[in-house]
Amino acid sequence: MAPCRWALWGFIALAGAPASAQERPQKAIGYSDTPMLPGTRWHVHDGQRPQPRVVEPGAFRAAVPPSDAVVLFDGRDLSAWRSESGAPSGWVLADGAMIVPARGVPGGGDAFTRQEFGDFQLHLEWATPETPVGDGQERGNSGVYLMGLYELQVLDSYQNPTYPDGQAGAIYGQFPPLVNASRKPGEWQSYDVTFTAPRFADGKVVSPAYLTAFQNGVLIQDHVALLGATGHRVVGTYKPHPAQGPLRLQDHGNPVRYRNVWIRPLRSDDRS
Ligand code: MG
Repeated sequence: MAPCRWALWGFIALAGAPASAQERPQKAIGYSDTPMLPGTRWHVHDGQRPQPRVVEPGAFRAAVPPSDAVVLFDGRDLSAWRSESGAPSGWVLADGAMIVPARGVPGGGDAFTRQEFGDFQLHLEWATPETPVGDGQERGNSGVYLMGLYELQVLDSYQNPTYPDGQAGAIYGQFPPLVNASRKPGEWQSYDVTFTAPRFADGKVVSPAYLTAFQNGVLIQDHVALLGATGHRVVGTYKPHPAQGPLRLQDHGNPVRYRNVWIRPLRSDDRS
């Protein structure tokens, strides 16, 4: 879980400022004392990095799982999910959604799938709280960790500036989304992702993870080669791990909802 100490500083810096959220000075929303991201002129979580342009997505369309999909959540039960310890997930089941428990409510912590996956196509839908609470990284923060390690950020990024590599659709700490295709808080949003797991040999990465993602039908990540596992204030690095890992949904203390989660593991013979 990424600490959010900066948000407090940002809040302090902005307290009493009459400017709207979109007019806030960029300096207040990120870091400049973090390492440089390779191949860029930006620091990790750089608040000076340009904000992705806003694109209004088209109407929401429900995505029915294809015949070979592994349905991980259909709104009825949490049997496909566990807590980090392996115990049943304590997330809240309500109105066809699985929800991060409120702070202080038992059953929190990240939710992990019991089944593990390598290369896959993923669909899921998520919604941040209808009434926004907090600013920046404190507003509707969650995340989808591919293989349990590589975070595709979930955040309320509707008129909620934060450092671009930490907004909705970012590969957290590495790649901002190409555009901001966020819906309003409380509205259901979709992610469709293709993911290729990294390959390791002799203790080293020989092929990075690749990710392509759509948010609400809009391309936000285009075959990006990930730098490594997600971290906060660091450049992600790879450590060898098994060929498969769980899907992991982040508990960042905000009651974010998920539904219609399904995955299509790619088979080796699909590429023959
Ligand atoms: Mg997150």
